[in-house]
Amino acid sequence: MLLRLHKPTENFKRVIEMNPHLDRQQLDRNTMTPFSHPEFDGHEEVAFCNDAESGLKAIIAIHNTNRGPALGGCRMWPYASDDDALTDALRLSRGMTYKSALAGLNMGGGKSVIIGNAKSMKSETLFRAMGRFVDSLGGRYSIAEDVGISVADVEMMAQETEFVAGTPERGAGDPSPSTAYGVYMGIRAAVAHRLNRSSVSGLTIAVQGLGSVGWNLCKYLSDDGAKLIVTDIDQTVIAHAVESFGATAVTTDAIYGVEADVFAPCALGAIINDETLKLLRVPVVAGSSNNQLAEPRHGIELHKRGILYAPDYVINAGGVINISHEGPEYDMEKAFAHVAKIHDTLGEIFKRSEASGTPTFQAADHLAEERFRRETLTSSAA
Ligand code: NAD
Repeated sequence: MLLRLHKPTENFKRVIEMNPHLDRQQLDRNTMTPFSHPEFDGHEEVAFCNDAESGLKAIIAIHNTNRGPALGGCRMWPYASDDDALTDALRLSRGMTYKSALAGLNMGGGKSVIIGNAKSMKSETLFRAMGRFVDSLGGRYSIAEDVGISVADVEMMAQETEFVAGTPERGAGDPSPSTAYGVYMGIRAAVAHRLNRSSVSGLTIAVQGLGSVGWNLCKYLSDDGAKLIVTDIDQTVIAHAVESFGATAVTTDAIYGVEADVFAPCALGAIINDETLKLLRVPVVAGSSNNQLAEPRHGIELHKRGILYAPDYVINAGGVINISHEGPEYDMEKAFAHVAKIHDTLGEIFKRSEASGTPTFQAADHLAEERFRRETLTSSAA
C-alpha cells in the first residue's frame, strides 16, 4: 500500500495540548498529520509506504523539486514512534533541498526512512518492496545510502527501480573521499577568510573522528603541511594517524579544548552545544559531521564569539556532488573540480554573513533559498 497524504487532518500539537494525559505514542499513531507537523515546510509530497509481505514500513518525503528531481539517502532506524520517523523524513528532505541548491546541482531535496532495526530486519523482499515504492514515484525521487543502509541494500532496490544513486556500477562509488576533499577545500576557504591564509600549511587542525571522511581529510591536510591533533574512540586508528601523519593524539574529551586554528568535527552530530562551546579555543569550526549545531542558538553563539562556522550541509556536500556526476560518462577529475567549488560557495557565504552581520548558517540558508525558490529561479531565468 502506498498512502500519499494530500489533505490535512487534525492538528497534532493542539491534540497533545488538549489531552496531556493521553499516551503520546498512541496519539502519534492516531493523529499524525504532515501538514500541521512542526517540521512541515511546504513539502511537495509525503508518501507512507506499507508492504505487508515484507513488513516494510517507510516514509518518503519530497521537499522541493524546483531545481530538478529529488535525491536523498534512505535511513533505516528503529524509531520509537511513527512521529519520530516522520520528523526525520521531513527535516532531512528539507536539508537536502538546501544542500543541493548550494552545491549548484539541478536536483531537489528528498529523503526516505525505513522504520526498523538495520541489524535484524533487513531482507531482499523488504528492499525490493522499497524499490517498487521509489519506482512508483516515477523519478521524482532517487534513493541512495544513509545511516543503516549499505550499497548492497541499494543494489537490491535497484532490481526494482532505475531511480537509485551511489552504487559502484554507476561510477561514483564510496562518497567519503569526495566528501573529505570538499571539507578540505572548505577549510581552506575558512582560513582564507578568518586568518587570511592561502593554505593550511603550518596551521594546526584538530580532527575529531578518523573514519571514512576524517582519515581522508587528514591525508589532504597533512600533504598540505598542516599539523594535526586527532582523536577517536578507536585506539588503533589513532596510533595509525600518529604514525602516518605525525599527528598528536588527545582523548575524546580533550579535543574540544585544544588550542588550534581549526576544529574539524568528523564524527558526531550536535557537537556544538552548551558544554562544548565553553571549551572551544579555535577561530574556525569546519568539518564533515551532519547537524553540528545542537540548536540554532548555538550557531548564533559561535557568531557572537567570533568563531567562523562553515555550515555543515555546505562543507560536507562533496559526496552528493560526486554522485550527481554518476553515469557511464563519469569523470572523476570533472566531479572533483565541481566539489572544489565548495570553496567559493563558502567564501560567498562568509562575505554575506560579514556584510549583513548574520551568523553563517543563516546566510547559507538565505543563499540556498534564493537558489531554489520558484520566484528567484524564474526571475534569474528571465
Ligand atoms: P565513520 O563512521 O566512517 O567515522 C566516524 C568516526 O568517528 C569513527 O572512526 C568513530 O570511531 C569515530 N567516533 C565515534 N564517536 C566518537 C567520539 N565520541 N569521539 C571521537 N571519535 C568518535 O563516518 P564517516 O562516513 O567518516 O562520517 C563522519 C561524519 O560526516 C558523520 O557525521 C557523517 O554523517 C558525516 N558525513 C559523511 C559523509 C560521507 O560521505 N561519508 C557525507 C556527509 C556527511
